[in-house]
Amino acid sequence: MSARAHNFFAGPAVLPVSVLEETSQAVANFANTGVSLMEISHRSKEFEAVMNEAQVDALALMKLYPDEYSVLFLGGGASMQFAMIPMNFLVTKADYVNTGEWATKAGKEARLFGQVNEVASSEADKFNHIPKNIKFSGDADYVHITTNNTIYGTEWKSTPDVGTVPLVADMSSDMLSREMDFSKYSLIYAGAQKNLGPAGVTMVVIRKAWLEAKAKKDLPSMLKYATHVKNSSMYNTPPVLPVYVLGRTLKWIMKEGGLGAIQKRNEAKAKLIYDAIDACPGFYKGAVAAKEDRSLMNITWNLSTTELEDKFVAEAKAKKMLGLKGHRSVGGIRASVYNACPMESAEALATFMAEFFKANQ
Ligand SMILES: *Cc1c(COP(=O)(O)O)cnc(C)c1O
Repeated sequence: MSARAHNFFAGPAVLPVSVLEETSQAVANFANTGVSLMEISHRSKEFEAVMNEAQVDALALMKLYPDEYSVLFLGGGASMQFAMIPMNFLVTKADYVNTGEWATKAGKEARLFGQVNEVASSEADKFNHIPKNIKFSGDADYVHITTNNTIYGTEWKSTPDVGTVPLVADMSSDMLSREMDFSKYSLIYAGAQKNLGPAGVTMVVIRKAWLEAKAKKDLPSMLKYATHVKNSSMYNTPPVLPVYVLGRTLKWIMKEGGLGAIQKRNEAKAKLIYDAIDACPGFYKGAVAAKEDRSLMNITWNLSTTELEDKFVAEAKAKKMLGLKGHRSVGGIRASVYNACPMESAEALATFMAEFFKANQ
């Protein structure tokens, strides 16, 4: 794959080249079966091994124990989890922290099932920081946060202290990008298409004790976490191809040295681009006000006019740097530098930013 562009798309997004190559091999002839990955039963021993290994590897990377947590691979995207979480766990009230558009959508779905306390919000400041010193209600059914705000470029750098209340997190855009104490969470979910694999599968990590003690029972089978835990994500046909790609991506993370090594590289990539922004104050305007909240995954900034932003995006594209246009709801520029984005891409972008400044200041 020689003609690779520099891929800064926010999602679906960049995947490791080795994973793409393994996948094309498996699409042609899966595990020497003589059939494609897309043509074989999900109950075949070859695919069951893919599913089991992905679950085992995910827990190993997160340093979680399989007797305490289950890993599920579900359809419906992260957006489906916005509804499934309150459907299963919201009895009286839940605390939601509103840090962006996705967090807002999660809260909106939860209101269909019970009382939602928006315990903190940065909406009045256009979501340019993560709220601090939050007062949680203390007796909620759970607390919901969004660890990385893909559209605005903010990220929680530490886990909030919510006492004994179960903590739930949408980690769609920073899942497995850094070391964290994942055992502080009772439920973690992530649409795969940002940092883990292709669209079509959502990874859910759930604390079994919470599920057994608190989940509602009178729900449709497919919308009940217990169904999928009991059947190890094989209650119905799982999204086999996305699960395969996600599984290979987990192996790739391990080969790269695990989350510690991945985090170091992500920090170095993000630093290159943030330094390029900060080197041209007034020309490049970082969209995140609180520098300590700057995301390692989605880097957002503005130029003085939309014309200049369009010129930036067009010239970058001519240099094979793709996906730099900000989200349609906020405009500006966004560089997404997920795990599989190579250092060379961040270097190319930082170099281009300095050149563009010189030519247009
Ligand atoms: C992309 C994204 C979503 C939505 O994911 P879908 O899989 O498209 O439903 C939710 N939350 C966050 C943080 C995201 O980045």
